[in-house]
Amino acid sequence: MILVLIDHDRGVIDPLSLRALTAARKLGHDIEAVVIGSDGTGLAAIAGEYGAKVLHVGAHSAITDYTPMASGRALKDLVGKLQPAAVLAAGSPRGNEQLAHLAAFLDIPMAAECSEITLGTPHHVLRARWAGNLIESANVHSDLLVATVVSFSVEPESVQGAAASVAQFEPDLQPADTVVKILSRDSGETKGGVTLSDAKVIVSGGRGVGGPDGFGNLEELAGLLGGTVGCSRVVTSSGWRPHAEQVGQTGTKVAPDLYIAAGISGAMQHIAGMKNSKTIVVINTDPEAPILRYADYAIIGDLHQVLPALTSAIRQAKG
Ligand SMILES: Cc1cc2nc3c(=O)[nH]c(=O)nc-3n(C[C@H](O)[C@H](O)[C@H](O)COP(=O)(O)OP(=O)(O)OC[C@H]3O[C@@H](n4cnc5c(N)ncnc54)[C@H](O)[C@@H]3O)c2cc1C
Repeated sequence: MILVLIDHDRGVIDPLSLRALTAARKLGHDIEAVVIGSDGTGLAAIAGEYGAKVLHVGAHSAITDYTPMASGRALKDLVGKLQPAAVLAAGSPRGNEQLAHLAAFLDIPMAAECSEITLGTPHHVLRARWAGNLIESANVHSDLLVATVVSFSVEPESVQGAAASVAQFEPDLQPADTVVKILSRDSGETKGGVTLSDAKVIVSGGRGVGGPDGFGNLEELAGLLGGTVGCSRVVTSSGWRPHAEQVGQTGTKVAPDLYIAAGISGAMQHIAGMKNSKTIVVINTDPEAPILRYADYAIIGDLHQVLPALTSAIRQAKG
């Protein structure tokens, strides 16, 4: 049996977990899922739809929100009871963090961001390194494989399964397990309620936008297309936009239908976060900008002219 951690934010599933469930199912074993926190109980239907027979719910009065080390402890307790062949999760920052804690508690290796997994003795994985620019082929020498699935390497496939049966357990938490916890939040949602990771359209801006005020044009175009605004790290480290909007290796990895990159040069750390987008449109004054290598369409020009022109043309076309 393979155990899959379904990550959720106060009961709302991280869609990348469905890809992890699919990847696990393709390894040919039975699948059981686990959520940490009682507000994940409502995910039994979707866990079953994607192939899990059982949804284990790690519930404890000290787990009221994301508490990564407590997750690791809860997973350790469950692994001890169920003895799965592998524990998988999405290769998101949170998936990686929680499984790293599990592996540390068990004193075994953890393979992050795997694009291929073969269970055996030893286990074998291919995994993305250096922002996806290097594929590592590695053997993992432990009985239990603890691994995350690199974002967007597997399409989520429903098996239309019945709701998973719910099995609640209470982890044996130590005081140190809840030292790292969420104290407050800056909303990662835009005004329209579309988050970066599930937006179908992202209009992303870089240093070329010139400052926080320049993002008005991007917001307008994103709103018109039913999408949301993203940005490069230069933009977040300059304080022009919140970190929740950063796309890339140290931001959010995205794969929208349409990614418009305005005033972004295409550093590999940015490309790592958006190269799986279905259609990429680049707006840049520099015809030699590296991001052009990834563009399906490119407009060589000043974004301060191009974006308003695009917005007005789309408004006209919509009538
Ligand atoms: C460990 C590490 C992790 C990192 N993680 C990330 C990450 O997650 N995400 C990320 O984005 N970066 C990340 N970076 C930073 C990355 O290396 C680049 O520095 C950053 O992506 C550059 O941002 P930029 O493209 O906005 O700026 P620049 O590289 O300065 O590019 C600006 C672009 O705007 C164009 N331009 C200027 N004016 C205009 C105009 N008026 N109209 C149109 N185009 C214009 C220019 O031609 C240029 O191509 C990371 C770096 C490190 C070392």
